[in-house]
Amino acid sequence: MKIHRSILWLAAVPVLVSCGGPPAAAPVTAPPPVSVSPSAAAPPPSSSPAVPSAPPSPSRPVKGTPAKPGLDGSMVATGTPTVALTFDDGPDPVITPKLLDLLRANRLTATFCLVGSRVKRYPELVARIAAEGHTLCNHSWDHAEFLYKGDDARIARDMERTSAAIRKAAPGAPVRYFRAPYGNFTPRVIGVAKRLNMIPLGWNVDDQCYASSRYGTGAAMVRHMSTRVRRDTKPGSVILSHDLGKPQTLVAYKQLLPWLRGHFDVAALPADPPAA
Ligand SMILES: [Zn+2]
Repeated sequence: MKIHRSILWLAAVPVLVSCGGPPAAAPVTAPPPVSVSPSAAAPPPSSSPAVPSAPPSPSRPVKGTPAKPGLDGSMVATGTPTVALTFDDGPDPVITPKLLDLLRANRLTATFCLVGSRVKRYPELVARIAAEGHTLCNHSWDHAEFLYKGDDARIARDMERTSAAIRKAAPGAPVRYFRAPYGNFTPRVIGVAKRLNMIPLGWNVDDQCYASSRYGTGAAMVRHMSTRVRRDTKPGSVILSHDLGKPQTLVAYKQLLPWLRGHFDVAALPADPPAA
């Protein structure tokens, strides 16, 4: 497990960096989707020698200058054959309860990356998420795209405020993951998350539900999401999806959950893993 994780830190691949939800600037300005095989992010054969576990800093920041954000250095695969579903930007008073119903009907658990200001508004939904065995992830207070431009103290305040709201809503539930809005990780954001005992959580499969200007809406988008997930998911994948304001997630996952369950071991990330 340890070896796997250390390899995974080094295995982050550049994918279409985006984590939908308002504002939607990143997906629109992002380059066309690259066919990056998620298998590129899977652990290499175990015959490889163990690699030192220091996270890479591909664009080492000059003093005080934030590095270019991206998924590098975040955890982009589970490190085991288990596939992890992650749902971002909620809780959503309409979509999240239906998604929880769908997961329960399929006897599956997932990881929910929660936005602090929405947690404060819908604490009962967070309590339900935790009570039903899903794992909680901190997704910043208000999904600020440029969170990474703040200094350590400002980033830490945002993370701590969000974790505090989650803990208040779901007392006793661990909050051990942090996902940067839009996947805008930098060495600084990663460093602060780790100092606060959270694992920076990326992904290596993206259903692109936010990119409706490119892939359409309604049934067309559902087809696109479903195709992406079926094509890209491999053992160990972390799949990026969204619940906030995304009814198409419900439609797509109604089909995808039985398919995923039939092909993979699927589960929430460990709620309280060893420190990164
Ligand atoms: Zn997001």
